[in-house]
Amino acid sequence: MTRLRTALPGPRSLELASRRTSAVASGIGSTLHLYIESAEDGLLVDVDGNRLIDLGSGIAVTSVGNPAPAVAEAVHAQIDRFSHTCFMITPYEGYVEVCEALNELTPGDHEKRSALFNSGAEAVENAVKIARHATGRTAVVVFDHAYHGRTNLTMALTSKNMPYKQGFGPFAPEVHRVPMSYPYRDGGLTGAEAAARAIDLIEKQVGAANVACVLIEPIQGEGGFVVPAPGFLGAISAWCTATGALLVADEIQTGFCRTGSWFASDHEGVVPDLVTTAKGIAGGLPLAAVTGRADLMDSVHVGGLGGTYGGNPVACAAALGAIRTMRERDLSAAARRIEQTVLPRLKALAEKTDLIGDIRGRGAMLAIEFTEPTPEIASQVAKACHAAGVVVLTCGTYGNVIRLLPPLVIPDDLLAEGVDVLEQAILGVAG
Ligand SMILES: *Cc1c(COP(=O)(O)O)cnc(C)c1O
Repeated sequence: MTRLRTALPGPRSLELASRRTSAVASGIGSTLHLYIESAEDGLLVDVDGNRLIDLGSGIAVTSVGNPAPAVAEAVHAQIDRFSHTCFMITPYEGYVEVCEALNELTPGDHEKRSALFNSGAEAVENAVKIARHATGRTAVVVFDHAYHGRTNLTMALTSKNMPYKQGFGPFAPEVHRVPMSYPYRDGGLTGAEAAARAIDLIEKQVGAANVACVLIEPIQGEGGFVVPAPGFLGAISAWCTATGALLVADEIQTGFCRTGSWFASDHEGVVPDLVTTAKGIAGGLPLAAVTGRADLMDSVHVGGLGGTYGGNPVACAAALGAIRTMRERDLSAAARRIEQTVLPRLKALAEKTDLIGDIRGRGAMLAIEFTEPTPEIASQVAKACHAAGVVVLTCGTYGNVIRLLPPLVIPDDLLAEGVDVLEQAILGVAG
């Protein structure tokens, strides 16, 4: 591998790894123990000069590039003017402008409002606060395989115990979990059938009149890039409208062009009442949002929402730079092109080995699920990719999914090379 200068990890990374052991809490893990010094579109350069192909984008964050010129420029300009005032004390234009952009870009052309926060989990927490306040109801319905964050409420909303919840309870009450549409593992239920199964449980076990919101990732992220069968989201959405429950789409991983449109709800023609966003929103700076129907968002009393740093001016400048890049370079089209080049290659690969059970995903959010519902194969494949200098991530309730989240601006040759390495890794493990 000409991009690699040393065995991985190299000597400087090993040195940092040992400092880390005595300084950083061991509960925080890292997928690769390679310390990064700089990046270019689609490449991460480590402290030993090894150049890694990035098919993870820091978990769907650096979609616009890393560093992205428009983001870097906006951040520099903003931080030279002022770094913080607290929007709740003295406001500034960037926050308003990000909210205007979110109101315009999220699904539906109804009147909307937005509120800004620091992390995805915080956005989800606030969406639940708003849904409860607006409806006067308390129950929150979530799905099998869901991932919504690591704070107390969002741990309760998240499905998988290990590593996210083990030993961290007790969890927030009034969270009810129902089955997801998971075509590869639910016997091929149609979207309508899977929705009927979920709705029946909600009505029998929770009671429609108690449901403040149904919270769903339109394509599940950490849970395994599960794409529900067509019609599932629409049926859930229709039930919400009929019963007065709010539909909250968690678009934190799927949003901002990742799946080939601004938001994944767009593919199914679903218009959620509230949408949560984060990850890809600001080119790597911490920013998150709740956007939704004006009547719901404005139902909360003044001072009921907020936070010291939420909508920090530097993060807002970064978001405006990132969104400008998405518009100017049409990154939704770029995500669709990534799907068109990678998906056929993965499908052809699946023909060559019985290890692969399912190939799925949309845009630049693509996954390989291995047949066995255990983590060994995915973990061996990921390790082989890492050893060859390609960053791929695993996910899934069974830990048996390899997921691809390349930067949307990745050059074609790097993407092709990354997929070559992945193919070889899988064929190598298949023997
Ligand atoms: C990552 C993620 C979150 C949590 O976001 P953080 O910024 O890590 O708190 C919530 N929901 C989904 C769908 C995510 O992918």
